Amino acid sequence: GEQQQQPHFVIIPLLAQGHIIPACDMARLLATHGAVVTVVLTPANLARVQPTADLISASNLPVRFASLPFPASAASIPDSCQNIDLVHSLELFTNFFLAMSLLQTPLVQYLRDQHPPPTCIISDQFQPWGMYVARELSIPRLIFHGFSSFALVAMRNIKDQAIYKSLTDPHKPFLIPGLPQPIQATKAKAPPFFYEETPGYEKMAEEALMAEDTCDGIVLNTCLELESHFIKQLEDVTGKKVYGIGPLPLANKDAASKAVRGNKPSIDELQCLQWLDSMPASSVIYVSFGSITHTMPPQLIEIGAGLEASGLRFIWVIKQSELMAPEVSKWLTEEGFEERVAGRGMVIKGWAPQAAILAHTAVGGFVTHCGWNSVTEAVSNGVPMLTWPHFADQFLNEMVVVEVLKVGVPVGIQKPITYGEEKTIVGRDVVEKGVRCLLECGGEGEERRGRVRELGEKVCKAVEDGGSSVLNLMKLIEIGSNK
Ligand code: UDP
Repeated sequence: GEQQQQPHFVIIPLLAQGHIIPACDMARLLATHGAVVTVVLTPANLARVQPTADLISASNLPVRFASLPFPASAASIPDSCQNIDLVHSLELFTNFFLAMSLLQTPLVQYLRDQHPPPTCIISDQFQPWGMYVARELSIPRLIFHGFSSFALVAMRNIKDQAIYKSLTDPHKPFLIPGLPQPIQATKAKAPPFFYEETPGYEKMAEEALMAEDTCDGIVLNTCLELESHFIKQLEDVTGKKVYGIGPLPLANKDAASKAVRGNKPSIDELQCLQWLDSMPASSVIYVSFGSITHTMPPQLIEIGAGLEASGLRFIWVIKQSELMAPEVSKWLTEEGFEERVAGRGMVIKGWAPQAAILAHTAVGGFVTHCGWNSVTEAVSNGVPMLTWPHFADQFLNEMVVVEVLKVGVPVGIQKPITYGEEKTIVGRDVVEKGVRCLLECGGEGEERRGRVRELGEKVCKAVEDGGSSVLNLMKLIEIGSNK
């Protein structure tokens, strides 16, 4: 019957805000093109994006949130395995993945009762058990990677050439194999996702690779206009069709979807945008390190002091958890930071309406940890970056931004910043110099701004009628309609 043919996508995101947010974007996008979509979360993780879920419900789109508690037999799962933000060690990381796979049986049961029946699974690379769900339901399955094509290609090539194993010095530079231009990495900067030798990790890596080898295609939050070369290379190394459907926040034309992404913003969005309205074009620096990083008090103070010394306008996001440190709150208030920068500097305490801020013409630079969502949001709005990677794929994204696209300046981080470690502090003078460099008149700053603006315009075309990302989205809908 007709109902049988309606596409019904089941999205299984990695349980981290930086992955659930694009999953919600993708759900909305597929739903506006005639599909039913189920986003698979747990109660704790649904609570963290409830404002987004509410917004989607209010728009009457056929997006469902399957909130699956861990099975009772898994009562021993520590709280720290509920979502990835809480995972601070490799050992917990392995437990986290084991915990996730316990959702497989409850999900299959849940999906068997759904109408219309599911027709396609889109599961994150870190939820490889999605392949068993697809097999049980006899439906196609796509892999979603929250990574850039560049990062995926680099990681594959490093693994294939076993560079990781051969290096003892984590800071010894080597050339990433197989790239069209020479780009250096170190072991410390190349994340060990698929080739770590930690016990317990191997099985997980094996599953993730198997899930990719057996999938029916790869979905990415990127577009040909941004990464055409690396998308093609990824198709070559994986033998899979790659569907770039991003940048996801741009693809969603609904303005409200920009304002509420994940959490509800901690400030009145309108007030924030009005403040930006009162500022000259491209004059404000936006500082935010995504949803997971935790910056230690001495580093926060150096960032603040650098922004203050620059004399520039800025919006600086400090997380609630970071404000718990008494010395930080004291420095911001009693010691007068906020007062001294009043009028030109805004501190957002908690969650910022980032996509809306980056889309404002007053924003002229972004100090970023290089999470792939953040990078695509900056590029699509023509905003140059001061790159400050912390961990995971962020160093590889920095290479794309600085060396391939040439739309950013590195702050100079050489190794992952571990939670609680205070040694890797970037001084206030470096911060000051870095942010000035983004807004500098003439010279390289000017050229960089020209490049990122041009790139932004090209990227926007991808999500317009007939654009590459729109065409790929249609292909996904076709895959979902075949059942
Ligand atoms: N984000 C936001 N407000 C914040 C912090 C982050 O809206 O205060 C959004 C940001 O726009 C991006 C996502 O959360 O879409 C973070 O993803 P990213 O890949 O940049 O970094 P991660 O959090 O995964 O490290």
